Amino acid sequence: MKFEQYNFIAPLKRNLQTLGFRKPTDIQFKAIPPTLKGEDVLAIAQTGTGKTAAYAIPTIQLLSTRSAQKEQYSTRCLVMVPTHELAIQVADVFKQLIAGIGLHVVGIYGGVEQDKQIALLKNGADVLVATPGRMFDLASQGYLNFKRVEILIIDEADHMLELGFINDMEQLIRRIPRDRQTLFFSATINEHIKDLAYGLVRHAVRIQISPKDPVSKNIDHSVAFIEMDDKRFFLERFINENPDSKILVFVRTKVRAERVLKALERVGIQSQTIHSGKDQKERSTIMDSFKSGKNRILIATDVSARGVDIPNVEFVINYDLPEVAENYVHRVGRTGRGNQRGKALSFCSTEEKEILTEIETYLSKPITVMTLSKGEYEITVDISEESEHDWKSLLDDHQAFKDKKKKKSKK
Ligand code: ADP
Ligand code: MG
Repeated sequence: MKFEQYNFIAPLKRNLQTLGFRKPTDIQFKAIPPTLKGEDVLAIAQTGTGKTAAYAIPTIQLLSTRSAQKEQYSTRCLVMVPTHELAIQVADVFKQLIAGIGLHVVGIYGGVEQDKQIALLKNGADVLVATPGRMFDLASQGYLNFKRVEILIIDEADHMLELGFINDMEQLIRRIPRDRQTLFFSATINEHIKDLAYGLVRHAVRIQISPKDPVSKNIDHSVAFIEMDDKRFFLERFINENPDSKILVFVRTKVRAERVLKALERVGIQSQTIHSGKDQKERSTIMDSFKSGKNRILIATDVSARGVDIPNVEFVINYDLPEVAENYVHRVGRTGRGNQRGKALSFCSTEEKEILTEIETYLSKPITVMTLSKGEYEITVDISEESEHDWKSLLDDHQAFKDKKKKKSKK
């Protein structure tokens, strides 16, 4: 079925066409009809399968065909997302789909001045995309009115309902009218979170696409056994062997991100870093430059692992394995988006084998091993050895990691 055949208002169909969306993806095909009927939906579908439009399309159709009841600082649809980057991105998707329809979309997130955001909310919004921090901040100052909420959407739902956010979410839900419609969307979910989610909805329709493998079929992912001290050589080699590719490199901490950047710089490779140590403006500039391809190598911590949709990322490298197993799915899910294919490679050192086992248990299957012959391994390390300068910092960091692990296992 094509979007043309849906009973949508004309400008929505036109906007879908402009975006190049001809056919709904699986999750869109399944989630749109019950949402249009006003039902609550709990939807699980892998990364990059078009979940944003799966909730945005029917929401826009519903809002545009109902009579608006706005008040000062009110919103008719509230979309909750965990990060600034996602708030900007999701608000953008709504704006593209809403062109010419006359609905008002506002994105609110921290790290930037609040006055502009307040001004945009003054006469009420149709769709408000928000991170919890800024949303509660504005609400406590009286700049948000929840009385008119018709639809509540929680994206990256498992994360939003995790400890730390759950109290906020419950508090929010108590303030929203009971007869609202609630939609949960997520790529990963566990039983505990599922129970929590069910407690917040009424007879939700549950939609789950390929639940057995949380990694999208568009992603070829493998692991190579590389010792901590040698990872830098393999990263250098990998980047040089793929001179035209956009590569997203994940590391464990912001300190490590900066060290990997410096290490690459020493061998003449330009890159940028993104992590919580940078302010919002910097993060946006860096994200834009990676999106546009101006910079092709981005070193990131898990802050940008969830939800962010960057065009044409060909490779994800897990320079360090993620400490939380489900983050593996979110990291590799930055590639292979929409109809594109992507590749992911994880560098696993001896110390990280335990984490690898946890990830494989989470995926309920082993990750393909990319074997490196001893000769190949030595050559990679040798060639790079010439450019050896101050790798001490990375090694020190590695030692600190080992010490931390030792302490943990002693407990
Ligand atoms: P998810 O939230 O499931 O990880 P997104 O909503 O970010 O995925 O969408 C992933 C990519 O797929 C985006 O680049 C989006 O533009 C594209 N996309 C979404 N729906 C369609 C569609 N029906 N046809 C073609 N591309 C689509
Ligand atoms: Mg998403």
